[in-house]
Formats: sequence, structure tokens, C-alpha cells
Amino acid sequence: MREQLSALYELQGLDITIGRIKARLSALSGARDLKDKLERARPALEAAEKALHVVETELKDNELRLKSIDEKRATFEKRLYSGEVTNPKELSAIEKEIEMLKSQQSQLDGRTLELYDQVEKARSEARVARDNVETLEKQIAEAIEKESAEKVALERQLAETISRREEVAPKITDKALLTRYETVRRKTGNTGIARVIQGKCEGCRISVTPFIARSLQQDKEYVSCESCGRILFLDTE
Ligand SMILES: [Zn+2]
Repeated sequence: MREQLSALYELQGLDITIGRIKARLSALSGARDLKDKLERARPALEAAEKALHVVETELKDNELRLKSIDEKRATFEKRLYSGEVTNPKELSAIEKEIEMLKSQQSQLDGRTLELYDQVEKARSEARVARDNVETLEKQIAEAIEKESAEKVALERQLAETISRREEVAPKITDKALLTRYETVRRKTGNTGIARVIQGKCEGCRISVTPFIARSLQQDKEYVSCESCGRILFLDTE
């Protein structure tokens, strides 16, 4: 009886290991969390780059307009001070043009200064967004590499444990005992057989009755814990 129980206890250890390996394998997600983050980071980068493009374009446009106004103003000023124009009406018209251009220039200058700030801010935001995407891409690649190495190791462990289980399982010749173990294990969700340690069931930590303790000593029949139903095993080694 005790040999059967000892083999069953070993089998249970292997079953627990198999369960743990399988749980770890199914927890490998292919870096799903990071991929979700990347999916949100990409549109954020697109938006930041678009915003940067808008202000850069306006700034460029402003600079071109300023240049063109400057040229016009220079032409008018040249005529004004050349001495070629003497007609007061014409001179006054030129002066008015120059004043108008000056006023346009000053408006554009104000906006251009604002745009310099906006471009700088947009550039820094786009850089942060780009760094974020690049970092995530790198992290995903690393995580996937790490996971694939882990997967190989886990699959090897799983194969080894299964093959060890195949060696141990035939030692349990009492098939009814095996069925009982499977049933209890399904019920408890973890173990079907428990050692008795210092008079207590290892599974539920409740003391076994003197009657059960005696039966275990006599080793003539299989006994179960009266509290949790696990098959009890007196490990004397
Ligand atoms: Zn118990």
C-alpha cells in the first residue's frame, strides 16, 4: 500500500509541475501589453508630427511674406530717397505705401515670434512621441526574444516532466486508487493525495483522528482525510 501511495505522491508532484509549466506557457503573451501601448503611441506620434508640420508651414510662409514685404519696402525707399521723384503727391503716395508695409511687417513679426515658440514646442512634443514609439518597438523586440527563449526552456521542461510521469504512472497498479486521486484532485483544484505531517493533513492542515492515524500505521487500506477527502499518505522516509 505504502509503495503505491509513495508512487502516487511522486506522480502528484509531477502533475503539479506540469500544471505550472503549462500555466507559464499560456501566460506568454507575445508582449501584448507593450503592443497595446505601441498601438496608442503611433497615432499620438502621427498627430504630433502633423501639428509640427502645420506650424512649420505657417512659419515658412510668414518668412517668405516678410521677405517679399522687405523687398517691396526697399524698392519704395530707394525711389523715395533717390531724388528721382519730386511730385509731392507721388512722394506722399510712396510714403503711405511704406507705412502700410511697415505695419504689415510688424504684424507678421509678432506672429512669427509666436510661431518660433510654437514650432519649438511642437518639435519637442514630436521628439517625445517618436522616442516613445522607438522605445516601445525596442522593448517589444526584446520581450519577444526573451519570451521565445523562455518558451523553448519551458517546453523542454514540460517534455522531461511528461516523460518522467510516463515512467512513474505504471508503478501505480491499483487503477481504482489512481481514479480516486484524479477525482479528488479535480475537486480540490490542486492535490488529490496529502502527507500526514505531525498528525495533520498536509492538504487542509486539520489534525487527523486517532482512528485514521492508526489505520495509516497499520497500512492495510487506503484512508482519506475526513475533512478534505484527500487520500492520506504516511511518509515514513
Ligand atoms: Zn485534509
